[in-house]
Order: sequence, then structure tokens, then C-alpha cells
Amino acid sequence: MPIETLDASVDAVVIGGSFAGLSAALQLARARRTVAVIDDGAPRNRFAARSHGFFAQDGTPPLQLIAAARERVQAYPTVQFVSGRALRARRVDDGNGDGDGGRQFSVSLDDGRTLAARRLLLAIGVQDTFPDIDGLAPRWGASVLHCPYCHGYEEAGRRLGVLSAGPASVHHALLIKEWGPTTLLLNGQPLADDEARRLRAHGVAIEPAVVQALEGPLPRLSAVRLADGRSLPLEALFVAPRVRIGHELVDSLGCELIDGPFGPMLRVDELKQTSVPGVYAAGDAAHLRHNATFASADGVLAGVSMHHSLIAGLGA
Ligand SMILES: Cc1cc2nc3c(=O)[nH]c(=O)nc-3n(C[C@H](O)[C@H](O)[C@H](O)COP(=O)(O)OP(=O)(O)OC[C@H]3O[C@@H](n4cnc5c(N)ncnc54)[C@H](O)[C@@H]3O)c2cc1C
Repeated sequence: MPIETLDASVDAVVIGGSFAGLSAALQLARARRTVAVIDDGAPRNRFAARSHGFFAQDGTPPLQLIAAARERVQAYPTVQFVSGRALRARRVDDGNGDGDGGRQFSVSLDDGRTLAARRLLLAIGVQDTFPDIDGLAPRWGASVLHCPYCHGYEEAGRRLGVLSAGPASVHHALLIKEWGPTTLLLNGQPLADDEARRLRAHGVAIEPAVVQALEGPLPRLSAVRLADGRSLPLEALFVAPRVRIGHELVDSLGCELIDGPFGPMLRVDELKQTSVPGVYAAGDAAHLRHNATFASADGVLAGVSMHHSLIAGLGA
């Protein structure tokens, strides 16, 4: 898209062109609204070879799924795609008062381009952060995993580990046990006696030692090396990463964050509007549960809500 066309005002700017953003853009495009989708090409599941559990697309590589969705959205004449990173956004006072017509936002990209829109969608996903263990990050999405519904089937029957990240890891370990023999790696953290009894009663082994490194030919895992020198054979390690959210963009708008189960998430109402009127959020950044199906459904809801809000007399 040539740089000069970006100055035009559109009905909606969607920041993030993955499961949530493209699903919203599709609804808006089908309602014949002008939409600009800004995306810098880093969807959360880009580390995984295949995406599982998605309606009619089980096992398709995630980037292929996103490319196919983008192609469909791009076919609508009112949609433009903008490659780049949205750095900041702000409400622009256009002098029309506080009514629907007065809502206007300006989005600045990292290369200096700007876009104006009546509605904004933050479909920006989240970034995973990991414990600092040698060999963990390069195995992410292959043999270091987080979601058993996404990857458990492929690892079924193998020796599985769960890296403790606090009290919720007991639940995680009992769940993972459904897919194969499981060890909870406490990594030096304490475990209450009743929790230990509960785990053992359900056949989950407990390893108290600190984990020093992951071993095996990348990206596979064959063992974890423990601080006391022992090596524990394992073929997949489940972790519960904390997540980060794109703070600069969110802060520039003044959207409220709340504590979610995995880290901060955007506060939204039942129509996916954030604490800032006219700014919506969908997908991992604004949903309690994280997977491609939830993110897509969330995007549909946001897109429809945004459209309603653009219709005088119908929206908020
Ligand atoms: C390793 C791994 C494997 C997974 N496997 C599965 C699976 O098998 N099945 C499943 O259902 N789910 C899976 N998930 C979960 C799934 O990836 C997420 O739930 C889903 O990607 C969320 O979609 P989203 O649109 O909210 O965010 P994302 O897919 O993360 O997309 C966000 C998009 O916004 C862009 N973006 C962010 N900030 C900006 C900005 N400021 N400017 C421009 N662009 C920006 C990013 O580049 C990205 O393209 C997996 C996750 C991981 C980490």
C-alpha cells in the first residue's frame, strides 16, 4: 500500500492481523466498512509446526492458516493491509463533541506513517516469557509446550514433565497425566504435603531438584539436567509461561489492564469495548482463555460490536 494513502480516515483500524484481528476485519468488510489492518507478522504460535483443534483445520501449519484467512479478507475492496508496527494511538478531538461522529483516533506506525479511524481494535496478542533455563527457549513450540489440547495428542505416551510455576502447576500436572507418564519438576520450589499426596495418588512423580538445562538434539528433548548432576529422561516439557502485552500502544491510549490468569490483559466489556470508548480488544490480549478458536470468535464479536457502534442510533 503506497505511503500517501495511509492518511485517509477509515471506519476501523485493526491492529494485529492474526486470528482475532482478521476475524474482526472480515465482519467489518462484509458490512462494507473501510478497514485498515496493521500487522507486523509475529503471531504467538509461529514457533509451532502445526496448529491443532481448530474447526476444519486440525493440523494445518499456523502461518498457513493465517495466510489463508488474510487472502480471504484482502479480497474485499474496502480492506487495506499495512505492514508495520503500530507504536502509539490517541483520540483526536475533531470538534464534533462527544457523540459517535466525534470519535476519531490517530495511529502512528514505527516508520512515521499515521492512520486515522473512527474505531480501533487491539488484536495484538501477547508475548510469552520463560524461566531462564538453558535450552528451554529454542525448544518452544516443539518439545517445550504449554497447552495439552494443542500438542498433547502428538506427545501421548511419551515421558512428560511439567515445570512448576507455582500452586497452579499441581492442576497442570494432573491434567498432563491424561496424555502420558508425568513428572512435576518443582525446580526448587516448595510443595505442600497434601498436594504431594494428591499428585502421588494420581500417579504423578515429583522431582524436587532445580532444573539446570534441557538436553537433546534441537528442537527435541531427551532429558533435563538437574542441578545435583542427575539427568532425568523426558521427551516433552510443559510450562506455564507468563505473558506480556504491548505496553506502549496500550498505555498511549490509556486502556485499563487487569490481572489475568497468565499475566496482564485488557479490560473489556461484554461487547469487547475497552475502558476507552471506541477502542475494542479481542483475542489473547483480552480473553481469559488462549487458543485460536477463542481468539477468532472474540474477533467476530468485536467486529460486529464495532460495526453496531458505527451505526447512528444503534451503538453505544
Ligand atoms: C507455541 C504455541 C502453539 C500454539 N498452538 C496452538 C494450537 O495448536 N491451537 C490453538 O488453537 N492455539 C494454539 N496456540 C494459541 C494461539 O497461538 C493463540 O491463542 C492465538 O494466536 C491468539 O490469536 P490473536 O489474534 O489474539 O494473537 P496472535 O495470533 O498472537 O496475533 C497478534 C498479531 O498482532 C501483531 N501485532 C502485535 N502488536 C502489534 C503492533 N503494535 N503493531 C502491528 N502488529 C502488531 C502480531 O505481529 C501478530 O501478528 C499456540 C500458542 C503457542 C505459543
